[in-house]
Amino acid sequence: MTSSHDKFRGCILGAVLGDVAGAVVEAESPGFIAKTFASVGDILATDTVPEFQGPPWQVGRFTDDTQMMLCVAEWLLEDDSHSPEILLSRFARAYEPWRRYGTGTEAIFRAYSQHPRAWRELSTVMFSAGSYGNGSAMRVAPVGLAYANDLRALISLAMESSRTTHSHSNAYQACVLQSLAVAIATKTSAFSPDMFLSPLRAGLAHFADLLQDTTRFACALDIVEQGLRAGLPCIEMASMLGTGVAAYESVPMALYCFLRHPESYERVIHEAIFIGGDTDTIASMAGAISGAFLGRQAIPAQWLGAIREQPYSPSAIEALADRLWAKFGSK
Ligand SMILES: [Mg+2]
Repeated sequence: MTSSHDKFRGCILGAVLGDVAGAVVEAESPGFIAKTFASVGDILATDTVPEFQGPPWQVGRFTDDTQMMLCVAEWLLEDDSHSPEILLSRFARAYEPWRRYGTGTEAIFRAYSQHPRAWRELSTVMFSAGSYGNGSAMRVAPVGLAYANDLRALISLAMESSRTTHSHSNAYQACVLQSLAVAIATKTSAFSPDMFLSPLRAGLAHFADLLQDTTRFACALDIVEQGLRAGLPCIEMASMLGTGVAAYESVPMALYCFLRHPESYERVIHEAIFIGGDTDTIASMAGAISGAFLGRQAIPAQWLGAIREQPYSPSAIEALADRLWAKFGSK
């Protein structure tokens, strides 16, 4: 049986590697990706790819998904008050524009540097109802690891971590679903789709009780269940669930990639990337769940060797996962 320590490592490394591999073909179509690359190994063996603006993208680097997820992990470790403002200040300090941040998130960081005391209002500077992009769900995995045994705290912290930049109810629901999926994967080594889908539906009920509209995610979970029953491939599901940056597309799509292939991290990442669209984020979220379920031992060593980041080498990322496990793993 996979140890919880190995699951913590698998979750964080699995998310980072999904981002690193997916970043190479971000926003590309499935046709282009299949024509250009034979496999994830092939993608990771590339040196550079053209960037929309600026110098070529160096393969092996991670994007905003990972940069902010590492901030969430450090926030959980170092700020016991779990203050959302402290998290926002961490995001703003870590911000490097070339990591392909969303324009709404960048606008919030700019506004925060000028008006830090107004941090509560900044999540609506670009979108008046708050963003429902996937930018907060893609960084929430550490919350699922840390509070797998305390679901009330998990739901509360998932939303607190989102509100700094993504304050639409759909973004909150996405964060709760993604962190719950990580939590369930961390707690179990057995598998059935219902072991995941039932608690996720219960997580949505929390929002329905507050009279918030949960239709998008409730329908998506129904589609996921039907797709699994029919054994539909991920590429076919992509046309039904969507692969865009809206949280209600990419979060259920990532979940499907995992639930369709629970036995193989490699297969999950392959599917999450070769469906096209927001590939770095879908592969990162699916990789977090799969890594939490299967543990670090399921991640190919050769793939990990493709991560080319300093100071966040694979061993430094693993050390951060170890610190999370030391603080939260036995709770
Ligand atoms: Mg990204």
